[in-house]
Amino acid sequence: MAEKLQTRCVIAGGGPAGIMAGYLLARASVPVIVLEKHADFFRDFRGDTIHPSTLELMHELGLLDEFLKQPHQEVRELRAVINGEIVPIADFTKLPTRCKFIAFMPQWDFLNFLSAHAKRFPSFRLLMEHEVVELIFENDRVTGVRAKTPRGEVEVQSDLVIGADGRHSTIHARAGFKEREFGVPIDVLWMRISKKQDDPQQSFGFFQHGKLLVLIDRGDYWQAGFVIPKGRFDEIKARGLPQFQNDIVSFAAFLRDRVAELDDWSKIKLLTVQINRLQDWCREGLLCIGDSAHAMSPAGGVGINLAIQDAVATANLLGDKLRNGPASMDDLRKVQARREWPTRLIQAMQVFIHRRVVTGATSGRQSSLPLVFRLLKWFPVLRQIPARFIGIGPRPEHYCRRGR
Ligand SMILES: Cc1cc2nc3c(=O)[nH]c(=O)nc-3n(C[C@H](O)[C@H](O)[C@H](O)COP(=O)(O)OP(=O)(O)OC[C@H]3O[C@@H](n4cnc5c(N)ncnc54)[C@H](O)[C@@H]3O)c2cc1C
Repeated sequence: MAEKLQTRCVIAGGGPAGIMAGYLLARASVPVIVLEKHADFFRDFRGDTIHPSTLELMHELGLLDEFLKQPHQEVRELRAVINGEIVPIADFTKLPTRCKFIAFMPQWDFLNFLSAHAKRFPSFRLLMEHEVVELIFENDRVTGVRAKTPRGEVEVQSDLVIGADGRHSTIHARAGFKEREFGVPIDVLWMRISKKQDDPQQSFGFFQHGKLLVLIDRGDYWQAGFVIPKGRFDEIKARGLPQFQNDIVSFAAFLRDRVAELDDWSKIKLLTVQINRLQDWCREGLLCIGDSAHAMSPAGGVGINLAIQDAVATANLLGDKLRNGPASMDDLRKVQARREWPTRLIQAMQVFIHRRVVTGATSGRQSSLPLVFRLLKWFPVLRQIPARFIGIGPRPEHYCRRGR
């Protein structure tokens, strides 16, 4: 017999979208259960960027001072090394936000912080090692989920199911939602390389003739992301590890003395990159947000911000309704209507970056700097455009106390 639970809102997935939505709904006194399939938040593949708009939200929630006491790095200017030349890309210091920087913080610290605060609300529950495997339907309405746990099956009945289970979403597959796939010409190889005291002190992106190495500073090691043409991992493996190690060193010579740590392909994980978007984000009793509604690529490092903003819009638009009963289809559609155009805009930008910047403009053998980067180098004021796009994004969402 499955254990049975009942709540107003059940959220599948404890990533940035799910934990933020859970926190905000619980704060609005909505009984909410978040189901996360893993036992903890410690996983390598998570992005580490907390954007100025998210920091603004933390301020609105009264959490900013405590949040900034967590270990993090503050990056005020994003720089890339393009065909060997250092180019400033984005200047966050002029943004109209309280924090004029991106905070780099391991995402598990962010999620632990936010979920610890959420647990202070009596209406919040986070159940780890609960993998949602099925939706429960009554007629055509979604009325809950079935989850697999190490102790057996659990059924959660609820007025609303939120799918926040990321880019390989079980929820949107089970709901039968149609999605539009945008071809992405890249995948990412993800690995750890140890860090030394005299290494550069900032996270970095190195572009070279259509290839890209990103190094994310995680304190005592670099989380390295190496962008490769889609489907070419087997080819790279066939060339052998020494050749791969040389490729890494050709981007970041300071890694020469330790690249041999990558002595087995099991230390190098393939992350497939997708960009897609659901046609409908909702049906009766169900709403998808974050990557579950629109999978984002790492380009521009904006997917986490977008997922969080979806969560804020969801809580703002549905919090009052859910406190008193189910949300109607019209209510759910309002969330999609509000968040769809920012998503479309950012995804269009990501597709452009893939075609023109990662695999296009920097892919020639020419050593000169592509025009877009020369302009950013010559005219500092232009660096405020990518800063605004990355740091705030279109239609930033704010915490709304309305009706409470
Ligand atoms: C290689 C790579 C690097 C990236 N780097 C960055 C970056 O630096 N900055 C940035 O802003 N964006 C980055 N992105 C994009 C970003 O990761 C996503 O846009 C963002 O994580 C979406 O958040 P989410 O909460 O919707 O989903 P996720 O972060 O994917 O969270 C989903 C959660 O649901 C859980 N889950 C999955 N299935 C189930 C299930 N059936 N039942 C219960 N739980 C489940 C997962 O364990 C996970 O905790 C990157 C993407 C890739 C592919």
